[in-house]
Amino acid sequence: MLHRLTITGLAGRLASGEVSATDALEACLAQVDRVDGEVKAFLSMDREDARRQAREADVELAAGRGGGTRPLLGVPIALKDVLCHRGQPVGCASRILEGYVSPYDATVVARLKAAGAVLFGRLNMDEFAMGSSTENSAYWTTLNPWDTARIPGGSSGGCAAAVAANEAFATIGSDTGGSIRQPAALCGCVGLKPTYGRVSRHGLVAFASSLDQIGPFTKTVGDAALVMEAISGHDPLDSTSLDEPVPRYREALGGASLKGVKLGVVKEFQLGGMDPEVDAAFRAAVRHLEGLGAAVREVSLPHSEHAAATYYIIAPAEASANLARFDGVRYGRRMEGVDAFELNSKTRGAGFGPEVKRRVILGTYVLSSGYYDAYYLRAQKVRALIRGDFERAFGEVDAIVTPTTPTPAFKVGEKASDPLQMYLSDIFTISCNLAGNCGMSVPCGFTRSPRLPVGMQLLGRPLGEAELFRIAHAYEQTTAWHREVAPLG
Ligand code: GLN
Repeated sequence: MLHRLTITGLAGRLASGEVSATDALEACLAQVDRVDGEVKAFLSMDREDARRQAREADVELAAGRGGGTRPLLGVPIALKDVLCHRGQPVGCASRILEGYVSPYDATVVARLKAAGAVLFGRLNMDEFAMGSSTENSAYWTTLNPWDTARIPGGSSGGCAAAVAANEAFATIGSDTGGSIRQPAALCGCVGLKPTYGRVSRHGLVAFASSLDQIGPFTKTVGDAALVMEAISGHDPLDSTSLDEPVPRYREALGGASLKGVKLGVVKEFQLGGMDPEVDAAFRAAVRHLEGLGAAVREVSLPHSEHAAATYYIIAPAEASANLARFDGVRYGRRMEGVDAFELNSKTRGAGFGPEVKRRVILGTYVLSSGYYDAYYLRAQKVRALIRGDFERAFGEVDAIVTPTTPTPAFKVGEKASDPLQMYLSDIFTISCNLAGNCGMSVPCGFTRSPRLPVGMQLLGRPLGEAELFRIAHAYEQTTAWHREVAPLG
């Protein structure tokens, strides 16, 4: 049952010598062997390299070098296929990067190594992080450990499924428009999108650079705080990284009282079309937070109805520029052509899947002369209004609480042929990326039949992660949702 421990639980046993880093890794690998044929969270895994890291961690543990600056010493953690890990493949679940190996470590990877983590495995995702279900992966769809007829969410679906299936103690993903919080909610784990600039993006393959952030998937709020302490902080290699001190997030984890905390529920998020069981679980969670002493009031985000439209202009615009680098010359796969144009178009034609092509075309269109002002510039203005809404709301409350998603995990294939339906599954998560503040999803209940996890989203001020940890931890301490284990967990 070692694989079912939290990081905090494992760290205690590693420190006392009760278990070794090798034991912890082998427990994950055995669980992968048991369930990943069904869950399909991992694209690849370098077991030899992981075992070498675990042996090195065991030497360090024996020498008493855990704790302090090495809080993750010996803890197995896996990465979304969008993060560079030196000597390992990085493919963004795309054919265009087939065979490409990272020449360097992303800053988060370097920081995880410095904190002692044992890094293993590449996790499935929607191609270039474009999607909400992993169905856009060029390889296969990852399945939800709670019900394998259903998707795990996306784009970081492999990250969420691996944690829910207890195949890894934590995973690291990216969130451009909900890609950490949405899959965390649908798989019943904790997922945090940090404030824009809190975690370095150096070594993250860019999707939409003004929205992308890296963050953790964990089994508990406390574990998320632990991982965040390790990966946050200024990095001169990312010019958008904030030069602000990293709080000791674990110290923000207080008791169960939320006296004095002001929470907002969003007037505009009370939609028709919400799944009634998700809605009921969310309302019960809000009442629970009130019971812990929080004062709940309504706040207004009047421009949020335009968030999805704004996002689907800005994100594709930035993606079309970022993905121009995959030209058949510099990275990964290359198709032959008689000249540069043919080489380039054949490579991109064969290498990108349909959703990526749709986004590149959309992005190129909204940036083209004659349309730039009507679409891109206008979207930037709406983005400023959305940010203003949040600033006003955070003048009134400490955090905002919403459902993470309007429905529980949907069936494989249910929305795959309707991009608009798929885009709408991110309706509650997108505005946080446009505004740049932080957001977290925590388990807050289950639907009845089938039994599927429901997530509650907490949105905080820019650099308000500590506040989110406090609220989420109080909620977690007094509820048992996070202790439920998926049938494949
Ligand atoms: N589902 C959204 C999209 O398709 C968000 C993806 C993400 O956050 N990477 O763009």
